[in-house]
Formats: sequence, structure tokens, C-alpha cells
Amino acid sequence: MSIDFHKLAVAGIQNLKPYLPGKPIEELERELGVTNTLKLASNENTMGASPKAIKVMQEAITQVDLYPDGNGYVLKQKISEKFDVGLEQLILGNGSNDILDMIARVFLCEGREAIFSEYAFAVYPISTQAVGATARISKALDSDHDENPYGHDLDAMAALINDKTSVIFIANPNNPTGTWLKSDELQNFISKVPENIIVVVDEAYCEYVESSEYPDTLKWLNQYPNLIVSRTFSKAYGLAGLRVGYGVCNEQIADLLNRVRHPFNVNTVSILAATAALDDDTHLQKCVEMNTKGIKFWRAACQYRGLDYIPTVGNFITIDFEQDAMPIYEALLREAVIVRPIANYGLPNHLRISISTPEDNQRCLDALDKVMQELGIDN
Ligand SMILES: *Cc1c(COP(=O)(O)O)cnc(C)c1O
Repeated sequence: MSIDFHKLAVAGIQNLKPYLPGKPIEELERELGVTNTLKLASNENTMGASPKAIKVMQEAITQVDLYPDGNGYVLKQKISEKFDVGLEQLILGNGSNDILDMIARVFLCEGREAIFSEYAFAVYPISTQAVGATARISKALDSDHDENPYGHDLDAMAALINDKTSVIFIANPNNPTGTWLKSDELQNFISKVPENIIVVVDEAYCEYVESSEYPDTLKWLNQYPNLIVSRTFSKAYGLAGLRVGYGVCNEQIADLLNRVRHPFNVNTVSILAATAALDDDTHLQKCVEMNTKGIKFWRAACQYRGLDYIPTVGNFITIDFEQDAMPIYEALLREAVIVRPIANYGLPNHLRISISTPEDNQRCLDALDKVMQELGIDN
């Protein structure tokens, strides 16, 4: 082959490091011959989807010979009713990643800048770089910060704003840290951002946050027309495999995002299942309660063992092993437990563990105790 095709790619893609997903169960079982694998690597909801959504999906299978409704009307209608936002303010995505990508395609290009925090969600740098824009990464709060260690430092983010800034990505709560921003601090930040800069608040885990100080950002949309809120059915709704998310924003922005949206980006099964999932508050509540218990379980387990963890409000907890975490990760794989190394986030000593049922949490903790003893790690 005489051509190096890498050189033909546009500049942003040449140096792009692809997203590193959690290890799939099938891959681990093929490689190590283990069975009964517990995957706690991708913040999936192991309680599963609402039974109502599952029933709807089974029925929807018979409709897949036809293209979906490209506008996703029934789902938009449901979101609009439930959250009291206009139909024209909504954009549906093939997962909320799709929404983040659309935002980058509409508002970023070479010569423009996106701001996000150190340790923020890995898709922001990818979407930014893919369209040739420049990422400006703000320092996170200190690792020993009282409330929000490793969290977004909004002052540091504001300090990076300049006349090239086009988009600011904020994850609230953030992944992989599990940290979050309170209503007054976030609103104070947004009110300082010039209106010609898009502020994206990524609320992938919002359903899990029980504090009354968590921002009700949808109520701010009239006041801040440059705000886009993105949400997903992948986490608390237990529909990660379907790929559905949505964005809520000003009507003009929704119109622009719709211009780059792939015509049938959300499939029929997804549209109907997500619509049904929004009708099952009981199931959602059960999942949130189980998660809150799981956070308490992991907090107590870490404290008892003298392990440092980042205080979380998400469905995962990130633990600091104060040494290279890779051997622990690998030893856990041999116990058929998949967690998530996050060296690619600049946190090589940490592992992120998704929170699950009491049985799964206990099984993961037992495996962790076992491998730490085997590795001679004494905290
Ligand atoms: C999981 C996650 C998403 C959602 O991804 P989907 O594409 O909707 O599955 C978005 N943002 C953050 C911070 C996440 O952790």
C-alpha cells in the first residue's frame, strides 16, 4: 500500500484518540474463560428497564420493517408534557452522545474553542477535536477539596472564556468523578457567560440526585437562551442498549441541531420504549432508591477499609487506590468482575465502579477484598 490513509484524514481526526468503552462481558469470557461475569464498568442500570418499556419493545419489534418517525413525535410529546417544555425546544439523539456531537458540528470548527473541565466526560474532547476545534481544559478542583474533590472549578472555567469560545460543556453530575454543582453556583456561572456562547449542561445522571439544591435547569431556558440541557435514557432508565437521549434548548438552537441530525437517528423501538419508560415513575423511583442505598454501602465499605473515594451522587463510585490501579483491575477481571480503569481521564490510581443491586455490590466488594489481599495491598 503506497498511501498512508492516516495522512488523508482531516486534521482533527488524525490525532483523535477514540472513546474507550468498558470491557464487554463476551470479550472477557472469551479471553479468560470465566463465566457469570459481573459488569460494573459502564454505569448501566442493572435493575434493567421498566417492565412497561420491555412490553412495548416486544410489541414494537413487529414494526421494524418501516422507517421510524423521523421526528419522534410521541416521545417528544411525552417529554414535553412531563417536563413542561415546548415540542419545538426538543431534539432527540441516538444516545445523548449524538446530541453532544450535533452541538459540536453546529457550533464548533477550526478556530473556535470549547471549554470543559479536567476529568470531565470523555466525549467532550472527542466531539471537539473531531470538528477541528480547540479544547480548553480548565483545572479541576483539588483532590482534597472539601465538597467537590476533582469537581468542576467554575471560576477556572470562566477564566478561559475568550472571543473564540463557542461552547462550554458542563457535566452535572460529572462522570467519572460523580461530583455535582448546586443550583446557585451553576446559575451564577451561566449568568456570567456571554449569550453568544453555548452552555451545555449534560445531565446524564440527574435522576439519581435527590438533593433539593440540584438545579432545575429546564426552568432556566427562557432566561438563558444559550443553554442546552442534555439527558439520556441510558442510565437511570436502564435503556443503554437502545441509544436514546434528548436535548432541551431554545427553539432556534433546536432547529439548528435538527439540520445536522441524521434523518432517522432514533429507531422505532427506542422511541416507543423511552416513551413508556417516562410513564413508569415507580420503576425509576425503585432504581434511585437502590442506588442511594448502594452509595451508602460503598461509602461505608471504603471508610472501613481506609480507601479514599470521590463523594458521588451518580450510579458509580470512583475509588483512589493510591497506586497504579491497573493490577487491581486485571485481578478483578480474573474474578469475573469488570470495573472501569480511568487512566485515560488522567486518574491512573482510581477505578470507577458502577453501583448495582445489594448482591452485586457485595460480590464486587468481596472480589476487591480478595484481590487486594492477593496483591498485598494494605490500606
Ligand atoms: C453515560 C453518559 C452520557 C450518556 O451517554 P448516552 O450516549 O446517552 O448513552 C452522557 N454524559 C455523561 C456524562 C455520561 O456519563
